[in-house]
Amino acid sequence: MKKNIKKIVFQKFVVMISLGLLVSSCSSDDNRVSIVPVDDIFYLPVVVHVINKGEPVGENTNLSTERIKRQIEILNEDFRRKEGTRGYNDHPDGGDSKIEFVLAKRDPDGKPFDGINRIDTTKVSVPILGYNPNHYAQYAYWNPKDYINIWTTPLPESTECLALGFATGPETDLPGTELFSLPEPEDAEGILVNWLHFGESESSCYARFGRTLTHEMGHYLGVLHTWGVGDCENNDYCDDTPAVDKPVYNTAFIGCEGVPAMINNYMTWSHDETMNMFTNDQIARMHYVLEHHKGRKALLSSHALKP
Ligand SMILES: [Zn+2]
Repeated sequence: MKKNIKKIVFQKFVVMISLGLLVSSCSSDDNRVSIVPVDDIFYLPVVVHVINKGEPVGENTNLSTERIKRQIEILNEDFRRKEGTRGYNDHPDGGDSKIEFVLAKRDPDGKPFDGINRIDTTKVSVPILGYNPNHYAQYAYWNPKDYINIWTTPLPESTECLALGFATGPETDLPGTELFSLPEPEDAEGILVNWLHFGESESSCYARFGRTLTHEMGHYLGVLHTWGVGDCENNDYCDDTPAVDKPVYNTAFIGCEGVPAMINNYMTWSHDETMNMFTNDQIARMHYVLEHHKGRKALLSSHALKP
């Protein structure tokens, strides 16, 4: 199964990437967890590796610090369902995940750091392995037990709206886990986001408000697309996302049980301006991963969180 998925990813990477594809599942009541995070919030450290083409900081692929910080702010607005932002909803099944992302405050050597690692690809030569974490990890890859590795990728502008992002998934006993792209021990894990879709931009593409990272982070923490594998019985294993048997692309349709598809869910392929919700079952899945996946759990006590 893993092999098949990898094969698919390599063969059809453009489509998959863009859609972050390999998704997984939501939780059942049996899988609910009740871990008590610090200050009632789960803080997770991220490092943004800005893989660029040597432009001055703030130009094209060498994204500005302001844009990167705004992207992390958007991620937190979405995961915390913050009022007054695009990430707010008042849906009865919508929730505040209590998960917040922090730009790493320490580098791997323990030195003070701003969470942004810029790599000029014109000065480094690496073998081309394709659009996957193993390729970008050749430039920079930090211990995934201490950092969520996010690479912004310097793809050509022709990939806009086609290649958005990609995430590896966590291996746990949650149903649907096999649908993720699960790294082997020698593989890198993390999240890729096409630089064109990282943060907010003036782009005319539907993915211009920074929601690609929200979606991919959902996968990284164990949540599947709402349609799962695309049948009514085995979709995302979340009871509070109406079952659908096909991808959701921003247009409402009636799903498996006569209920409209939830087009505003982050785990669809809807437009950035449409999405504003993780459901409580999706959030329970993320919390389960934070308690049961060794690597994800270790993030909660990372040295990178400490000033
Ligand atoms: Zn996806």
